[in-house]
Amino acid sequence: MTAAGAGKRPAGAQGPARTPGSSLDSWIPFLDVAAANREVGAELDRAIGRVIVSGRFILGPELDAFESEWARYVGARGCAGVGNGLDALTLALRAMDVGPGDEVIVPGQTFVATWLAVTATGARPVPVDVDPGTANMDPARLEAAITPRTRVVMPVHLFGRLARMAEIAAIARDRGLRILEDAAQAHGARNENGMAGTLADAAAWSFYPGKNLGALGDAGAVTSNDPELLGRVRILRNYGSPVRYKHEVLGVNSRLDELQAAALRIKLLRLDAWNQRRAHVAGTYLRGLAGLGDRLALPPAAGSEHSWHLFVVRLANRDALRDALATAGIDTLIHYPRPPHLQPAYAELGIPAGSLPVSEDFAARSLSLPIGPHLNADQVDRVIEVVRKAVGS
Ligand SMILES: *Cc1c(COP(=O)(O)O)cnc(C)c1O
Repeated sequence: MTAAGAGKRPAGAQGPARTPGSSLDSWIPFLDVAAANREVGAELDRAIGRVIVSGRFILGPELDAFESEWARYVGARGCAGVGNGLDALTLALRAMDVGPGDEVIVPGQTFVATWLAVTATGARPVPVDVDPGTANMDPARLEAAITPRTRVVMPVHLFGRLARMAEIAAIARDRGLRILEDAAQAHGARNENGMAGTLADAAAWSFYPGKNLGALGDAGAVTSNDPELLGRVRILRNYGSPVRYKHEVLGVNSRLDELQAAALRIKLLRLDAWNQRRAHVAGTYLRGLAGLGDRLALPPAAGSEHSWHLFVVRLANRDALRDALATAGIDTLIHYPRPPHLQPAYAELGIPAGSLPVSEDFAARSLSLPIGPHLNADQVDRVIEVVRKAVGS
């Protein structure tokens, strides 16, 4: 279930097992979620205590407050909290009337939830290959994927870098298509037109613990400037019920609960500071790992403000670098080792290997280095040192 790292040792990590926190320990986790929670520990305790004694756990005042605060942060007119990021995507698509017989255009390389949301509505995901620099949907390939069945284009701001929304919007608008942002990795990313979450008809968010804004469990939300669309998400998330025991549509149970909303309100106050620390880590990596040419491709300098959810490098011998880092006690992850069209779950779509070459290349050659607000300068320097040594600086 780990979409991004969540501060635990990934099952595939090699090298000697180390216990985080011991005095001799020099293990560098991929992401230290517990450190973030410790930084706001007293505030979290108070907020959670307040919910416990209130006796209200579902669709209460904490959710109302978080929805307003998140909408204000993003710059959208409104927000509807749901149970997780996959449901945010699915319910936003359903609120756009996407269903069986429809097609939704998705990037070829992304976390599988982007595609699963489309499948959950009964529609068909239609992939577009990604840009070789950024791994985001390549707008130059969008037009060719549009058919009379296409209803929605769903770009992902992968790794925290904004997709090329202006170009995508120009094509989609021309063809009468709606756009849904998968903003699950882009909390706080922005360009001159605004923040992730305001660059399309709606945006879906995940607050999975490992995201830049993470809850203490699963949580998600939809933001939009369209109150009618948000109204439909609110009905869908609550059994299709606008008022108690009246069921207008076949809804689901997917609510952002009061404990999660209370925790997210606390952590939202730190989001900008934490994103700045991520950007600082990314800047140090970019300087420290520069000049390795073809041996190590770095993420291109951001043309817009990046949320630095992940720092992904690419190289021919990815697995050897991963092993060298693991031996040095440095955890890495691969986002994502197999693109959705090559997953067994999507065999029925019959999209053969080789048909999305750039997406497949990212899957084969990319490696995500540790990044997060609680990675310290010494740790970043050690990662740089081990990487440079392993790829031959
Ligand atoms: C995390 C993630 C999701 C799914 O969010 P969950 O809350 O884990 O369901 C969807 N899309 C992308 C790009 C993600 O990274």
